[in-house]
Amino acid sequence: MILVTGGAGYIGSNLALRLLELGHNIVIFDNLSTGHIEIINKLKNLDLKGKIVDFIKGDLKNLQEIESALSKYKFEAIFHFAAFSIVSESAKNPSIYWENNFLGTKNLLDAMKKFNINKIVFSSTAATYGEPNYVPIDENHPQRPINAYGNTKLALEFLMDDYSKAYGIRSARLRYFNVIGADKFQRTGEWHETETHLVPNILKSLNTKGKTFNIFGNTYNTKDGTCVRDYIVMDDLINAHIKALEYLNNGGKTDFFNLGTKEGNSVLEVIQTAEEVTGQKISYEIKEKREGDPAILIADNKKAKEILNWQPEKTLKEGIESAYNWEKANFYK
Ligand code: UDP
Repeated sequence: MILVTGGAGYIGSNLALRLLELGHNIVIFDNLSTGHIEIINKLKNLDLKGKIVDFIKGDLKNLQEIESALSKYKFEAIFHFAAFSIVSESAKNPSIYWENNFLGTKNLLDAMKKFNINKIVFSSTAATYGEPNYVPIDENHPQRPINAYGNTKLALEFLMDDYSKAYGIRSARLRYFNVIGADKFQRTGEWHETETHLVPNILKSLNTKGKTFNIFGNTYNTKDGTCVRDYIVMDDLINAHIKALEYLNNGGKTDFFNLGTKEGNSVLEVIQTAEEVTGQKISYEIKEKREGDPAILIADNKKAKEILNWQPEKTLKEGIESAYNWEKANFYK
């Protein structure tokens, strides 16, 4: 049995789906603050090799709730996605980010210790690096986050080091770059009440009459003046999670891995690719730079390739295609 915290959310639900396809029985623990019960219900009704044995509406901030969940089943490992992840919100309200992300995860780790669960795959982030000194960014790059979101995730990487040394809880901490895309059969995908991300915002602008898409800044020191990011497609990201579990199952030590493609694309290139995919013209306006946006973020992914035996395979275009199919199926009027 495997526990997925945050399994009602964007990445957690895609991972849950993959575990079910692989024949795992899983329990989902989610407080539904940003996730969606509709997704859980949809996954429950699929005829796959594995089953959602239980959905527990619970909050990691409450130690009793997670202890009670862990006491009910014998879990071999935990995938931990439950967290807040909007950078601008974290800058305005660090208190809720520290409470939800840090305290929530500390409770989870304490409950794991109590119930002798010793493997966790954790969603960390490229935001732990802050403004890069060089790209591609390898795992030895200094970590100096520039927002509360990145600070909470970095603090949790440290916490996991300590819990690994003292209590033998081994963790694979995966530092995501920019995740895009959805399940190829549109069984789950990106669904945020407040959407801040590039690809869904581009696609949503096509569905809203008269709406122009906003580009945040075009005077960065990059190939065309717009920010460059490393876009990793959901399928590839999920493959890496499965490999990370295998790594821990094979006795792998506590470690961290960048998940990115080592390719950089500018905002204008993403728009151009979205135009190819959708066959529509995307109209945009240039706005002020968004605070805390580094010019370029690109992952060096050598470590994940070598140690996890993982390889990203999908292109930016394929990622946008799957995101477009998901948007059309769920949100287009
Ligand atoms: N971006 C943009 N318009 C939007 C959303 C994002 O121009 O509506 C830009 C943003 O400034 C950044 C890139 O797209 O350079 C990726 O932003 P996103 O929020 O998707 O991910 P982040 O890099 O902040 O994690």
